This record gives sequence, C-alpha cells and structure tokens, in this order.
Amino acid sequence: MIYLDYQATTPLAPEVAAAMRPWIEEKFANPHSPSRWGSEAAAAIEVARDQILTAAALDEGRFVFTGSATEALNWAIKGTVERSERRKLVTIATEHAAVLDSLEWLEGKGYQVVRLPVGVDGLVDLEAAGEAIDRRTALVAAMLVNNEIGVIQPVAQLAAMAHQFGAAMLCDAVQGFGRMDLPEGADLIAISGHKIHGPKGIGGLWIRKGFEPNVLLHGGGQEQGLRSGTLSPALCAGLGEAARLAAERREADTAHLEKLFQVALATLGEGWIINGSSEMRYRGNLNLRRDSLDGARLISDLRNFAFSLGSACASGSGRPSHVLRAIGLSDREARSSIRLGFGRYTGEEELVLACRRITLAARDQHYLTA
Ligand code: PLP
Repeated sequence: MIYLDYQATTPLAPEVAAAMRPWIEEKFANPHSPSRWGSEAAAAIEVARDQILTAAALDEGRFVFTGSATEALNWAIKGTVERSERRKLVTIATEHAAVLDSLEWLEGKGYQVVRLPVGVDGLVDLEAAGEAIDRRTALVAAMLVNNEIGVIQPVAQLAAMAHQFGAAMLCDAVQGFGRMDLPEGADLIAISGHKIHGPKGIGGLWIRKGFEPNVLLHGGGQEQGLRSGTLSPALCAGLGEAARLAAERREADTAHLEKLFQVALATLGEGWIINGSSEMRYRGNLNLRRDSLDGARLISDLRNFAFSLGSACASGSGRPSHVLRAIGLSDREARSSIRLGFGRYTGEEELVLACRRITLAARDQHYLTA
C-alpha cells in the first residue's frame, strides 16, 4: 500500500517506538504512586513535557497532557467560557469538528457563536473578524493549518484582535505543530501525538499563565489538578520524543516536503485544480479537484493507495465537506475533490507512482462516463 493520508494520521517514527517500548514492557508502574518505580515513570513524563515545551519554543506557561487534541479543544473551550462572564465565541467556519461541535453545543445553551467566513483561498476574512470580535467575546478559536485543505490561517492577527478586547485566543495547532512556528499571541494551544509521528491517544494543551480553563475532568487531581486521570508514561514519552524529533528534523522535513509537493504537481499534470491557497499552504497537503471526477469512486478503484476525500471524520458521513463548501465549491465540485497527504516517510518514487495511477484512473472515469 502507498500511504498518502498524512493528515488523517502519520506513521509512528521508529525513534518514538523505541522511546515508548520500556514503558509498555517492563516499566509498568503508576507514575502517580510514590514508589521508586512510580517516581521513575513520573520523571519520564516530566522529560517528555520539557521536550514538548522546547520543541514548541514556549518557555512561559504550562503544558498539560490530555487523551487527544479533541479533549484538549473541548476542555479549552468549555473551561474558558465557564470562567468568563462573556457569552460570545468567535471561530472560523472551516475549523475541525472538535471546535465546531463544541461551539454548537454551547450555542444550544444560549451562547452566541460567530463562524467567520473564508475566501476561495480558504483564508479567514479578517474584516469580518474585526467586526465580530468585541468586548462581549470570551474566546476566539482558530486553527493554524487546516486539516482538509492545508491552508495556514493568520492566527497571530486574530490573536491581536482578541487581545484588544480582552478575549482569550485558542489555537488548534494539531496540523502545524512541529512543522512551523507556533503563532504569536495564542493563550491556549492544542496538539495531538499521532499527527507528528507520535502515538494515538495522547495530546495536550499549552496554557499561558492566567488562562487556565476550569477543570473538566475531576478525579485524582493529576496534571497539576487541572486534568485528572492516570497518565500513560509510554504515550507521554512517545509524544515527547515525537516533538523532539520534529524540531530536530524540521529543516530536512520541510525541504523534503517542498520537493514532494512539486513532484506530485508535475506528475499529476493538467486538469487538476488546487483547493485553497497555493501559497499560504502546508506543503504536505494537496487537496485537489478535477472536472466531473467522482472522488469516492476513485478511492474504491485504487484500493492499494490510501488517500482520502477530506477529513477522516467527514469521509464516512457521505456529507460534502463543510470546508470545501465554505470556500465556495458546489456539492458536485466537493465530490470531485480528493486529499493527498504526504510527509517524512513518503518516498519520491512511490509518490510518482501513486500520482500517475490517480491521474490515469481519473481519466478512465472521464472516458467511461462521457
Ligand atoms: N484538530 C485538527 C486540525 C485535526 O486534524 C484533528 C485530527 O483529525 C483534531 C483536531 C483531533 O485530534 P485527535 O485525533 O488527537 O483528537
């Protein structure tokens, strides 16, 4: 199989597997128990926390481990509005479901939610943001890199607007962390292990001092009393090592991706249109459409190639992606779109082979249905 679905998840780095192994096999102690073995596990968790803070280049504030970025985002949103008197929330229409659905839930409880539109390039309308963010705003939530179309949002500009009115800024950095600088001015930043060659089932929230959300998970008081639940030393060590490795390899990974991006475009050839901005784009994402293509059929025709229609979550629903709709595509254009995601472990040869096969299969579809 040729794997081109790096936005859905990434392969575990061998270095990460090695860092996790002792904590899965012989070192099984509870990191919150006072025994020598427990303390050793707790120390490994603190090493991982430091690795993440160093990779993120965040020296103030703190990092709290969570079970996923979905949990971190739910906590950041619900825990922030709970500690605020304000009742207005501002986000972008193309956010991940973890943000949009949390906000919709709050809307059902009487909060006002503003979903900012994006242009055809997928970038947020800053004028609309300027009109929406005001003294009633508790939180502005914006993603760094869109998981479907890969565009990079101007989060720092939104953060400056939020701060002008005393609102908190939450950034979903799941698809950008380890690959680019984190935006200036975010007060809360959510990350996930499995998007950076780390394990699944672990993520976290970086919190600027003074922006601690109210506690969502009550229990044993782990994670500085902010998030209860026994931590997995293996998962924490895996996320820490993945973050360290991402920082160490950032230049090499970026150069590799730039090459792959150009190779993919050249091999796919004429007839494909990139969805969203080509410039303000993470280079490991190619979301493309082609006239009269049936994306779902293409995926089932090419079973040995893993790629996707949009986000892994939206793909199963049969609904056209809310992101592609937000950039102005018709249902038909959205259904003619596919997402190719590649990264550190993608080879040039396999990418060329996949792009050739994709274009051939797309052309076949065109002739067979014409
Ligand atoms: N935010 C974005 C942009 C994502 O791509 C994802 C994963 O698909 C998430 C949040 C949720 O991350 P997790 O799988 O850790 O819950």
